[in-house]
Amino acid sequence: MNFTEKHPGKLFVLSGPSGAGKGTICKRLLEETKELELSVSMTTRNPRKGEEEGVSYYFTDKESFKKHIEDGDLLEYAEVYGNYYGTPKDLVLKRLAQGIDVILEIDMQGALKVKENYPDGVFIFILPPSMSELRKRLTGRGTETAEAIELRLGETLKELSYIDKYDYCVVNGVLEEAVARVKAIVVAEHSKVAFTAEELIESYKEEA
Ligand code: 5GP
Repeated sequence: MNFTEKHPGKLFVLSGPSGAGKGTICKRLLEETKELELSVSMTTRNPRKGEEEGVSYYFTDKESFKKHIEDGDLLEYAEVYGNYYGTPKDLVLKRLAQGIDVILEIDMQGALKVKENYPDGVFIFILPPSMSELRKRLTGRGTETAEAIELRLGETLKELSYIDKYDYCVVNGVLEEAVARVKAIVVAEHSKVAFTAEELIESYKEEA
């Protein structure tokens, strides 16, 4: 599928280490950029306090998730720390075809799979300002054991070696600044000649 065909939306993929703050950035971005729509993922992990079905995730069991994989319902999926996560395909493609921008907030394995199949996506890597800050954030969440935190820090170092697969990287030190940078990326992508020029020139010609 070619996303740069007439009037497509843009697919933005926000990814990066756990604790870098991609979820928070994504939430702020959606509040401030009405044109963007979040793709709600499917997961086999249990809901956390305050999470809502169909808003935070579509919660499901492993068996149903595997059926969705077999049926080709997912744009990508990955196993992240023992649970499955995946992006339902239909809605994403429908929205893009309608010209609506879609944002995926997914892990790196998933992002790389999306890149293989949909290279026209815009891939943004969110980085923590430092490893010590990342450790502090993960500890502060209080949701993970010390062992799980060490595992995530180790994973982060591995993930950094794939950064060249991304189009942009944004360091999330001060949240407002990181959000502003991601918003700037969205605007820049919409200003690309390949995205806008052909149609504009056609309209000028018609008018002339
Ligand atoms: P959490 O359990 O904290 O909500 O998410 C754990 C990780 O799974 C995060 O890095 C998050 O970005 C990632 N994730 C959430 N949804 C998806 C998805 O649909 N696909 C993939 N590949 N990763 C996801």
